Amino acid sequence: MTSERLTVIGAGLAGCEAAWQAAECGVPVDLYEMKPTRMSPAHHKNGFAELVCSNSFRSNQIENAVGLLKEEMRRIGSLVLTCADQTSVPAGGALAVDRDEFSDMVTLKLSKHPLICIFREEIKDIPTSGTCIIATGPLTDDGLFDSIQSVIGRKFLHFFDAAAPIVQAEGLDMSIVFAASRYEKGGADYLNCPMNESEYRAFYDELVNAELGSVKDFDKETVFEGCMPIETMAKRGFDTIRFGPLKPVGLTDPRTGRTPYACVQLRRDDRSASLYNMVGFQTRLKYSEQERVFRMIPGLHNANFSRFGVMHRNTYLQSPELLTRRYSLKNNPNIFFAGQITGVEGYVESAGSGLLAGIYSAGKILKKEPIEPISDRTVLGAMAAYISDPQIRVFQPMNANFGIIPALSMRIRNKKEKNLAYAERSLAEVSLFRDTLFETMRKSI
Ligand SMILES: Cc1cc2nc3c(=O)[nH]c(=O)nc-3n(C[C@H](O)[C@H](O)[C@H](O)COP(=O)(O)OP(=O)(O)OC[C@H]3O[C@@H](n4cnc5c(N)ncnc54)[C@H](O)[C@@H]3O)c2cc1C
Repeated sequence: MTSERLTVIGAGLAGCEAAWQAAECGVPVDLYEMKPTRMSPAHHKNGFAELVCSNSFRSNQIENAVGLLKEEMRRIGSLVLTCADQTSVPAGGALAVDRDEFSDMVTLKLSKHPLICIFREEIKDIPTSGTCIIATGPLTDDGLFDSIQSVIGRKFLHFFDAAAPIVQAEGLDMSIVFAASRYEKGGADYLNCPMNESEYRAFYDELVNAELGSVKDFDKETVFEGCMPIETMAKRGFDTIRFGPLKPVGLTDPRTGRTPYACVQLRRDDRSASLYNMVGFQTRLKYSEQERVFRMIPGLHNANFSRFGVMHRNTYLQSPELLTRRYSLKNNPNIFFAGQITGVEGYVESAGSGLLAGIYSAGKILKKEPIEPISDRTVLGAMAAYISDPQIRVFQPMNANFGIIPALSMRIRNKKEKNLAYAERSLAEVSLFRDTLFETMRKSI
């Protein structure tokens, strides 16, 4: 136990995980969240760890890099993964959650932690003393943005990211829509809207010609490839979305007994199955155009939209110049960053960086430094090594992937076997890190 407190700014995925990890190490934490006094353009709910778009944490299989990242985090005692596992909804091989239940559970656990004090207020200046973690997300703006700029210089980058619409189950035409997972993997967890060729042609023509909403400073060079608006992707070619989010392979329309020409998938968004997320339908179309064009999708003719898709300008640091592998500033070890603002991309990746920043900042406060950074043979460590690698000249947000992990010593041709070998090697490293953490700082893992 120590009397020195850690300040965490922002109770998103990264800030919540960071606060939890530090408190579990015995460090008292002051967690600041500006909601509900002030809401970013993408946040709408009062709870912590709000999922601003999809309700999916993506693959749950360890032969997939983001699945492995989740397993690494579980083994270190991640708050976000504990809550996600307990509030999951069926989603084939993916981990998806009931977003409200998930956020409620994270909020409750943090509120009840004896070492965490919660303040619902906006922070406009980086604290000048003590240790802090800035986890204010990709939409950090105004006062705090200026304060960060004054500390780091003009070293911010940006890109644009879009969210997909959510439709209500009531209003779907279930005589057309069918429940199934691709290749029948898992249960029949997705609702599928099958299209024949003429339906697809008509939809495609309207999609590529639909009117766009205006987005300040939008420029198409800086759209994040992993979250590209559906209409932008469609403009690349007639078949592009048929090989992307609308791919029909592995699905059979029970009405025809055949694979449809194209297929839109809907993923359950809540436990009661009253809301569905349109998979891969991030968009910047005007709301009225979303209604008009997306209602052309078979089964969605009378769809009610609970939320329309939107696009936002995301900001992140020029981290390779600024940050260490411990997520602290190279020129100021008291200031840590975590989450999407560091250039990691995605819910799980953001939480993962929060997990490490929470542990390393606790180590600093408890004077257990230097706790060795986790090996870059783990996805957690590889992400940290990537965002802090000074050799990187053109820095872009990075999802978890095996490409950033050092190669295996032996050559394995089969992709699944190779990825499983990465996973085995990584989880052995996680055990070592966890053991050190337990011996040095945590008593209750
Ligand atoms: C529109 C959009 C859609 C996205 N869709 C997806 C998706 O579908 N899947 C995916 O994996 N990732 C998605 N992302 C990317 C990313 O994973 C999320 O942004 C994720 O929420 C980042 O986590 P974070 O903790 O870094 O930030 P956030 O979750 O944004 O949390 C930041 C928190 O800090 C608070 N805050 C901000 N400033 C202050 C301040 N000055 N004082 C106090 N509190 C403050 C905010 O209110 C917020 O609660 C999306 C991002 C955007 C912007």
